[in-house]
Amino acid sequence: MTSIPPFTPPERLLLGPGPSPVDPRILQAFTRPTLGHLDPQFLEVMDQVRSMLREAFKTKNDITFPVSGTGTAGMECCLVNLIEPGDEVVVLEQGYFGRRMADIAGRAGGKVHKLDAKWGEGFTPGQLETFLEGKKPKVVAFVHAETSTGFRQDVPELVEVARGAGALTVLDCVTSLGGIPLEIDRWGVDAAYSGTQKCLGGPPGLAPVTFSPRALEKIQKRSVKCVSWYLDVSLVTQYWGGPRAYHHTAPINNVYAIHESLRLLLEEGLEARWKRHREAHERFAKGAQEIGLRFVVAEPHRLPQLNAVWLPEGVDDKAGRKRLLEEHGIEIGTGLGDFAGKVWRIGLMGHGARSEVVDRVLAALKKVLGR
Ligand SMILES: *Cc1c(COP(=O)(O)O)cnc(C)c1O
Repeated sequence: MTSIPPFTPPERLLLGPGPSPVDPRILQAFTRPTLGHLDPQFLEVMDQVRSMLREAFKTKNDITFPVSGTGTAGMECCLVNLIEPGDEVVVLEQGYFGRRMADIAGRAGGKVHKLDAKWGEGFTPGQLETFLEGKKPKVVAFVHAETSTGFRQDVPELVEVARGAGALTVLDCVTSLGGIPLEIDRWGVDAAYSGTQKCLGGPPGLAPVTFSPRALEKIQKRSVKCVSWYLDVSLVTQYWGGPRAYHHTAPINNVYAIHESLRLLLEEGLEARWKRHREAHERFAKGAQEIGLRFVVAEPHRLPQLNAVWLPEGVDDKAGRKRLLEEHGIEIGTGLGDFAGKVWRIGLMGHGARSEVVDRVLAALKKVLGR
């Protein structure tokens, strides 16, 4: 008989593009006894999660809940519910995740028009306006915090242009929620999704989503059913709201975890959380420049929670990251897509956005880069 020992994970400091270090309070919440998915006390926890998510997203949207699945499930949920076969969809692509949105929009039957930007750059309202001329998009989708490049896209101006063209907007907030200012209602965003393992500082497993009344109206007026049964908002919300009808078994312990993540976020306060991420970034940027690292993104659009730097000449991507992991216990991210082998991505998200963490990664980078 083979006997496999229990798994004890090594100690790692997670400073890549996610998952981020999990706050011990969240891990503790995760390990509490599993309740039934219709237990009255669990239903109360679900209500609290929805109400805290509304605060985090800064929205009054009734349809706000966490989808079972990671950030990509949230992306898919927003797109497949809002897109009907033949709908014109405009996707702004300035990195890896915009590309993924375009793929999903096409699979949902959308007639996809892609507007590209150079990786590491974003879009101006004027560019979008010109691109929309002669098109009748039902949906315009883009990424707020592009984790593959470290670019922060200005949102409200683009939403205004999309609205002017009669489109609903879908915003990827996977890396922005809990890290940088985000205001769903004030900015007029119609659908947005996020994930638990970035700036919310929890384990991966849930994808918070929110839909505006306008988005809900489009969903209710669909002439064909949503292609996904599992992600169909008109069905899932029968469990997360109203009649509490069984749809699928909620990942109970993940819900405990997001409950604690959101409690931590609101205890600290949104503004204070954003400020903590900014300060961690500023400390990192100062130290990074001292050891000769150059940022990919121009300063006004840099994400504090995701620092993308050019790999210095003569440094081997794989060997360098291997040393960081094995000698220092630190995980950072490599480049994706167009940036493969060219960029290192240092995430300072959630529980990782602290000065002692910044000092530790800077010291390790100094050694590995031989500075
Ligand atoms: C991480 C990420 C995703 C995908 O989330 P998963 O949890 O990996 O499915 C989508 N968009 C952005 C911007 C991300 O950073």
